[in-house]
Amino acid sequence: MDLDLTDEQRLIQETAREFVDREIVPRARDSDRAARFDRELAASLGEMGYLGAPVAEEYGGRSLDYTSYGLIVEEVGRGDSSMRTVVSVQTSLVCGSIERWGTEDQKRHWLPRLCSGEALGCFGLTEPDTGSDAASVRTRAERVDGGWRLSGQKMWISLGNQAELALIFAQTDPEAKHKGLACFLVPTATKGFASQEIHGKLGLRASDTASIALDEVEVADDALLGDVGDGFKIAMTALDAGRYSVAAGCVGICEGCVQASVSYATERRQFGVPIATFQLVQELIADMVVKRDAARLLVRRAGILKDQAKPNTTETSIAKLFATEAAVECANAAIQVHGGSGYVDDHPVERYLRDARVTTLYEGTSQIHKLIIGRDATGINAMTPLRAGES
Ligand SMILES: Cc1cc2nc3c(=O)[nH]c(=O)nc-3n(C[C@H](O)[C@H](O)[C@H](O)COP(=O)(O)OP(=O)(O)OC[C@H]3O[C@@H](n4cnc5c(N)ncnc54)[C@H](O)[C@@H]3O)c2cc1C
Repeated sequence: MDLDLTDEQRLIQETAREFVDREIVPRARDSDRAARFDRELAASLGEMGYLGAPVAEEYGGRSLDYTSYGLIVEEVGRGDSSMRTVVSVQTSLVCGSIERWGTEDQKRHWLPRLCSGEALGCFGLTEPDTGSDAASVRTRAERVDGGWRLSGQKMWISLGNQAELALIFAQTDPEAKHKGLACFLVPTATKGFASQEIHGKLGLRASDTASIALDEVEVADDALLGDVGDGFKIAMTALDAGRYSVAAGCVGICEGCVQASVSYATERRQFGVPIATFQLVQELIADMVVKRDAARLLVRRAGILKDQAKPNTTETSIAKLFATEAAVECANAAIQVHGGSGYVDDHPVERYLRDARVTTLYEGTSQIHKLIIGRDATGINAMTPLRAGES
């Protein structure tokens, strides 16, 4: 596996780094304090081509490889995870699903607007009673003349209040279980679609998170993405891409923690010397460096496998599990390096910790990823509890 970046990938990385330092870093603290979603900045991400980087150019994307996409997401994640969420949801979950499963008309209608940032999309899988057990979606899709009627509730949907388009996963036939799931492209202006902002989040305060109510929302036949019964496959392939993106963003958090900690430790003096002189402080930083590098290499491996179109579900889970846990640990250690100064938002490290915390929960909790990795290693599915008499 060749881990060297090409000249083009380096240029993409450098450009993203400069953009993040110029446009995202200076706004991150104020947006976090105000719990304000910065739509203008989201539009700038679109102008840079960061909202659909791997999407084919003919649909408004940049036709970039996954390695390059990961480099962009890492930089945005270093700057602000709330903005990284926009990139991940829009690119991996929404655009990626439409490009892979959509009809030519669906692609031509939605992708150019999504890639440019003119429209935002959200991914409506989770429900109040359906989280890790995604196959148990309860939102109903019933056949009506010329289309479908959707009723139900969605929970924790990133960009749900801002989006013009919602991918809604719904059950067409409860008896068929996951084989009855379908995915619909629902314009959020459709009658019966209502969203509400979720307040009081620990982190990702500048990210928009919504609960969604679908009250007999009617869509035409051409709103169906893929076929009836494809919903579960669409969700799982989207999450394979989304998890890669979350993992790359977490490498950015680890990188930000290292940079902030080195900078602080070499300037802050105690006992007459910079605190970086103390071995115990160096240990905190060395542990961060090791976790950052390991996370980055795991993300790189997953990206290369994706670029080679090789199976990568387990490798993506490994990268997601490791990088998200590493981000939490690095942010916690970075606060320690900063002492009391790390406890307030003069430095980015307390935000890094609050923002990193959700990454071990969404796009598959750490437990779910351990079960995916364990299933691959043992051949035994430990995800679903066995009932008496089952083997
Ligand atoms: C800020 C935020 C943004 C989000 N954005 C989106 C979005 O855009 N779209 C979307 O669809 N969803 C989104 N989510 C939802 C997220 O994906 C879910 O929260 C996640 O899948 C976990 O589901 P849950 O919260 O219902 O937890 P549960 O599934 O109820 O899990 C609770 C606990 O039980 C454990 N558990 C569950 N099943 C098992 C098992 N089989 N074995 C071992 N342990 C298990 C879990 O690991 C966890 O520790 C978001 C969530 C948050 C917080």
